[in-house]
Amino acid sequence: MLDRLQDTPPDALLALIAQFAADEREDKIDLGVGVYRTDDGATPVFGAIKAAEQRLWEEQVSKSYLGPEGDRGFVHALMPIIFGSDATMGGRIEGVQTPGGTGAVRLAIALAERAGVTRVHVGTPSWPNHIPIIEDVGLEAVTFHHSNDDGSADLDAVLGIIRQAREGDAVLIHACCHNPSGIDYTDEQWDAIADALADSPVLPIIDSAYQGLGTGLEEDAAGLRKVLAKVPYALIAYSCDKNFGLYRDRVGAFYAKVAEPAQMPAAMSNAAALARANWSMPPDHGGAAVRIVLRDEDLRQQWLDELDGMRQRLRWVRATLAGAQKKVEGVPLAHLEEQNGLFAMLPLNKDQIAKLREDHAVYMAGSGRINIAGLTKGNIDKFIAALADVAG
Ligand code: PMP
Repeated sequence: MLDRLQDTPPDALLALIAQFAADEREDKIDLGVGVYRTDDGATPVFGAIKAAEQRLWEEQVSKSYLGPEGDRGFVHALMPIIFGSDATMGGRIEGVQTPGGTGAVRLAIALAERAGVTRVHVGTPSWPNHIPIIEDVGLEAVTFHHSNDDGSADLDAVLGIIRQAREGDAVLIHACCHNPSGIDYTDEQWDAIADALADSPVLPIIDSAYQGLGTGLEEDAAGLRKVLAKVPYALIAYSCDKNFGLYRDRVGAFYAKVAEPAQMPAAMSNAAALARANWSMPPDHGGAAVRIVLRDEDLRQQWLDELDGMRQRLRWVRATLAGAQKKVEGVPLAHLEEQNGLFAMLPLNKDQIAKLREDHAVYMAGSGRINIAGLTKGNIDKFIAALADVAG
């Protein structure tokens, strides 16, 4: 039976990680893996999370099952961060905890399928796991252009999709810090998207995996909130793995916005049933730590300060790359300063990417995506010089 299985290609990024680890050059630069790094190249545990974990260790008296919804205190503590002061919109937003943002995306797509969605429109390039999840749930993924070559978002493409959409369509939109392009919609573009969604049968699925890493915690949620203010129904997938640095603890949440509070029990019971069938219940530890941080004034402030520090460093990398444009002819860098989050796409061809790796020990995804957090005060000049070399 299992002899029917065909090889499936390994994840290209995981292969790159192995290649990077095997490279013995001391000045090697990893721009592949999608995690935040400090100026020392580390991905430390947040101080606020460490403190919360210690408290959890001291106070937690049982590890008995919580249920498919996970830690409701976590799910609710997060809501004002995502949705603002009117976090439940009068009982019209509710959620469940999920294993990371990936689990939240999975739940959103699976719930959309139960609600009658058959196609999901995805702006490309996108997070490489979006289309596999959509297809694994058995839905059709239909792609449109997310971005223009000049570093702006292709607004006409997304509006065209929304306006032509039919009953049974969903559209997946990144809330902020678009992965992999870094290209977010402007405020005006979000207004146009929200207006178009309000007049369309399409179900918005909003994926928020980087809140706080773009221009600010509130700012990064503004587009999502504009959409939710206008549409009757939406699904939201949220990850705490970047903005709380909890990657391997798999911390996320899925929320549904419904038109009437009376529709919420059906939405949540279906979400719980799908969670049960997929992973039974989410891992507890990271979500519990986030709950402790968000409910404690001092820890919450510490977390906000740590997140500010991350964002400022990312903005410094972007400004430094943009400022180096004159040194690098042929690779557009100036617009990186306007973009947000961990990622950017460099329009390099396969030979240039291979040359960066072989001659300069600079590792990046074959698509040209770089994780800008891999650049530090210690290596950014080397990277700029390497880029100038391969571009010239
Ligand atoms: N959505 C997007 C856009 C992502 O980039 C990622 C991965 N970083 C996820 C969802 C999944 O997040 P997590 O690691 O929490 O599963």
